[in-house]
Amino acid sequence: MSLPSHLQIAIDGPAASGKTTVAHLLAQRLKVLYLDTGAMYRTLAYMALQTGTDADNEGALVRLWEQASVRIVLDEMAPLGFRIVAGGDELDEMTLQSKHVTAIVSTIAAHPRVREAMVQSQRHIALEGPVVMAGRDIGTVVLPLAHVKIFLTASVGARVERRATQLRAAGIDVSLHQLAREIEERDRLDRERPFSPLVAAPDAHVIDSSEMTVNAVVAEIATIVERSR
Ligand code: C5P
Repeated sequence: MSLPSHLQIAIDGPAASGKTTVAHLLAQRLKVLYLDTGAMYRTLAYMALQTGTDADNEGALVRLWEQASVRIVLDEMAPLGFRIVAGGDELDEMTLQSKHVTAIVSTIAAHPRVREAMVQSQRHIALEGPVVMAGRDIGTVVLPLAHVKIFLTASVGARVERRATQLRAAGIDVSLHQLAREIEERDRLDRERPFSPLVAAPDAHVIDSSEMTVNAVVAEIATIVERSR
């Protein structure tokens, strides 16, 4: 498939809807860059925990992000599909997906100035080349002119199963009941925040993946990309 040199594909959706898996596979299939923006908010949450910064202190969080000079390197050879280096350490999936990080990340992501800093970095990264970017506000705010916008949903039951499988593979122990509560609470915070809430862009293709395999979702999006050219 020949693609525009500045191709941008936005994949948004609620927690554990399969966005990152689908976005990563799609990027590999199309041979373009890939970034999971949730990992950036998780990085800040991790740094807040490390430094004892209050998740409600917007000014301190923005300063923490600016002063830490976090490096994000899009690298398809990295296990995550990109590398995030903070304070000299590359953060791995186990760190980013830890329960402590997950517990505060949506509170941190609700601060307007935190979002502005993240969006600025994300737009800058998008200039590196054709990209598939996954998150909550990619099609609505970060890349409003993206060629293809996908809003990926799935039932809570399907999302809990998928997240449990993903976390167990990363060596993180989980209870399905707790996971359901955590996913629903994060969805509520993400949908109800006043600034850049989780919502489908009006021009997004909405895909309910509850009954679909990952490969079927990737194939459907690849078809949408092909038709959009
Ligand atoms: O995608 P993931 O579950 O890792 O995202 C963690 C949290 O980061 C989300 O629950 C949301 O609060 C925040 N987030 C966001 N905007 C994005 C990506 C993630 O607000 N573009």
